[in-house]
Amino acid sequence: MNIAENLTRIRSEIRTLEARYGRKQNSVELLAVSKTKPISAIEAAIAAGQRHFGENYCQEGVEKITSLANLELIWHFIGPIQSNKTSLIAEHFDWVHTVDRTKIARRLNDARPDSKAPLNICVQINISGENSKSGLHIKQVPEFIEAISDFDRLKVRGLMALPAPAKELQAQRQPFKEIYQSFEQLNNADLKLDTLSLGTTQDREAAIAEGSTILRIGTALFGERDA
Ligand SMILES: *Cc1c(COP(=O)(O)O)cnc(C)c1O
Repeated sequence: MNIAENLTRIRSEIRTLEARYGRKQNSVELLAVSKTKPISAIEAAIAAGQRHFGENYCQEGVEKITSLANLELIWHFIGPIQSNKTSLIAEHFDWVHTVDRTKIARRLNDARPDSKAPLNICVQINISGENSKSGLHIKQVPEFIEAISDFDRLKVRGLMALPAPAKELQAQRQPFKEIYQSFEQLNNADLKLDTLSLGTTQDREAAIAEGSTILRIGTALFGERDA
């Protein structure tokens, strides 16, 4: 598994797909999902120019962030959030993609250090009845964003989803399309959202086609994870 080669290939694939689907060049960011992978794998990606990393498990993520603290990296928390982990997450990460409860948002807000910029967050949507119970119904999103709008240590950047897997490109595009429509409606109602965290290794083309601005890629970059 050559991480540098994988990165080069995925980046050029993203640029090709941006062109194919009429997206602006460089409008899609690659988030390297390094959960369960060793520091050495992250270092190989850094050497090849990668800056954004995603982690699912708080403890593991904080250890990696701490040991790479002298580098200018941007760390994204993309896993389920336990309320007893909100302080650690708010102190160490730059982004949280999986916010779906007011209580969790309040705890993240309260724990975000004043010395840091507001925590970037995405609201997680459950779009296709995916197995995990995480995520709001798409209809609940406007009310939720309103409910957390007073939390000034949070900056709501956009929406995130992890739809149930589908094989065909068209089937993969459908849930992303619905999220994009919701994103447009929110912005028409005067929110300034700029982020759609959509797409993993399996459905990255569909996500780019439907407006993703952050692809969360693990397997295609670092190889299969041990179960
Ligand atoms: C693990 C994970 C990914 C990466 O998935 P791959 O299929 O390995 O690319 C993306 N998003 C979330 C929320 C994840 O938990």
